[in-house]
Amino acid sequence: MKKIIFIFCIFFQTVFAQTIKQCKQRFDNYLNFKGSLNNLVSFEEDAIFIKDATGKKEFAIYSHEIEMLASFFENNSFKLHEQLLKLKGIKKYSKRQRDSLYIYIDDIKKLPKQKKIKPLQGYRIAIDPGHFATSLTDAKIEQKYLYFVKDTLKNNNDTIKLFESALTFNTAQLVRVMLEEQGATVFLTRTQNNFTSFNCTYTSWIKEHKLHVLDSLKINNILSTDRYNKLIKLNDYKLFWEFFRDFDLSNRAKIINQFNPHATLIIHYNVDEKNDPWLKPTLKNNTMAFIGGAFTESNFDKPETKIHFLRLLLTQQLNQSEKLATQTVLNFNKNLGVSIAGQFDADYLKDNCITTQNKGVFCRNLILCRTINSPLVYGEALYQDNTNECEILMKLDKTVNTIKTNERIYNVAKSYYDAVFLFLKN
Ligand SMILES: [Zn+2]
Repeated sequence: MKKIIFIFCIFFQTVFAQTIKQCKQRFDNYLNFKGSLNNLVSFEEDAIFIKDATGKKEFAIYSHEIEMLASFFENNSFKLHEQLLKLKGIKKYSKRQRDSLYIYIDDIKKLPKQKKIKPLQGYRIAIDPGHFATSLTDAKIEQKYLYFVKDTLKNNNDTIKLFESALTFNTAQLVRVMLEEQGATVFLTRTQNNFTSFNCTYTSWIKEHKLHVLDSLKINNILSTDRYNKLIKLNDYKLFWEFFRDFDLSNRAKIINQFNPHATLIIHYNVDEKNDPWLKPTLKNNTMAFIGGAFTESNFDKPETKIHFLRLLLTQQLNQSEKLATQTVLNFNKNLGVSIAGQFDADYLKDNCITTQNKGVFCRNLILCRTINSPLVYGEALYQDNTNECEILMKLDKTVNTIKTNERIYNVAKSYYDAVFLFLKN
C-alpha cells in the first residue's frame, strides 16, 4: 500500500513539476521580451513568484494552484482578479480555499458537444475588423488610408484610394458568412465599415459623446482633473492620438470578452513601413500575424497588465493562439502567394516582437493581443501599397452572398475561415 501511495505522489509531483515547466516555457518563448522580466518573475521547484521592483516576492503560484488559478484568470471579471491578487499574495492555498475559488468559475468557455447538425454549431467566434475611417476627413485623423496617383512616370494616372477600415470590414463580413453557414455564432465589434466600436463614426462620437464620456471618466477617477483639462481642449486629431485610439481598442476587447468567444480574429491590412509617407506603390509584399506576449518591465506597473500577464502565463491561450496564427499565415501564403515575413523584413518585427518557432508568427504586446481573453490571431495578410495589390484591392468585381468584394479580399477571408475551422475542430 505504501508503495502505491509513494508512486502516486511521484506521479503527481511529476505532473505538477511539468506544469511549472510548461509555464516557464511559455515565459521564455512568448512573454519575457529580451529578458526584461528576469528580475520580476522567478521559477522555483514548487512555485512561480512575481516580485515587486525591489525584488520582494509579492505573489506566488504554487504548483498545485496552477490549474485553479488558470481557470480563475480565464473566467472571472477584472474586479475579482484584482481582489485575488491583493488577498492571496504569497500565501499557499489549501484544498478548501482552492475549491471555494472554483465556485466563482462558470464554464462559459466549455467547448460544445459534438454531433451537431452543423460542424461549428455552439462555437462563438469574435471578429474585430481593424480601424474605422472610410472618409478622407476621418482617415486624415486615423492615418489608415492610401491616396496617391499610381505612376506618373509611366503615364499611369490611375488614382489609388484605399481605406483600411473598408477592407477589414469587407473581409469580416465574408468570414462571418462562411462561419455562420457552418453554424457558428459570430460577433463583429463594428456594425458598419465607417463605425468605431461605439456604434457610430468618430465624427459623431465627438459631437454626441465626447463630453459626457470624458466627464464620467473624471467623476469616476479614471481621468485625473489635469488630464481631463488637457483632453477637453484638444482638437479632433490630437484627441484621437492622445485618447480615443486606445479607448476604442480597449472597448473592442471589452465587448469581445463579454461575448466569451472560443476564438478571435483581428483583421488588418499592412503597408510597407519603408514606403512612408505612402505616396507611391512598393514592390515589397509580406504576410504575417501577431499573438500576445512580449511583456516588458514597465508593463508590471499596472495591476491590470499584471493580471493579463498571469492569464497568459498560466493558461494555454498563447500556445493555442500560436497554432491558430500559424495556420492563418500558411493559408495567406498558399492562397495569396505572398511570402511570409521574417524577423528582418520590418523594424517593428526586429525591435518590438518575439519571434516564435513558426515563421511569420510574432509575439507583440498590442492592446488587443494582451487583453482579449481567448485564443486569437491578429492577421496582416498583405501590403496594401504593393504595386499589384493596391489596384486589385480597389475593385468590387466579385459578389459573394450579396457582399461586393474582390478576389484578393475573398482569399484573405477564406484563409481566416479555413484556419479557424481547423483550429476549432482540432
Ligand atoms: Zn491596421
